[in-house]
Amino acid sequence: MDCLFCRIVSGEIPARKLYEDDQVVAFHDIAPQAPVHFLIIPRKHIATLHDLSEADDKALAGHLLFTAQRLAQEQGCEEGFRVVMNCNDLGGQTVYHIHMHVLGQRQMHWPPG
Ligand code: 5GP
Ligand code: ZN
Repeated sequence: MDCLFCRIVSGEIPARKLYEDDQVVAFHDIAPQAPVHFLIIPRKHIATLHDLSEADDKALAGHLLFTAQRLAQEQGCEEGFRVVMNCNDLGGQTVYHIHMHVLGQRQMHWPPG
């Protein structure tokens, strides 16, 4: 298995986990870009957002989003937060196992650059 986030799912590589269930794992980003910065990933390996299947992964996609909503609230981000998914090199993706970034507790700006 050569995927970093699959190794985090299996526990082979440690991470500061916030939450896990049968479908997703959430853990703090190793290089936080905001006072709150965590990632939510599916247990299932899906390389990029292009590879998410509307036929097979609809419930999983919804679960990722609602997990982001709930954990953001639990992390004190009721006032506001940002959710980001980067797709491929042009989109700024560096780890090829899909992940939802949740960032909060600082003022965000647009465009992100
Ligand atoms: P991407 O650029 O692919 O959207 O985001 C990848 C994120 O994974 C980056 O924010 C990076 O800091 C984070 N990351 C990379 N390696 C590790 C790791 O080993 N542990 C954790 N917790 N985060 C990581
Ligand atoms: Zn993976």
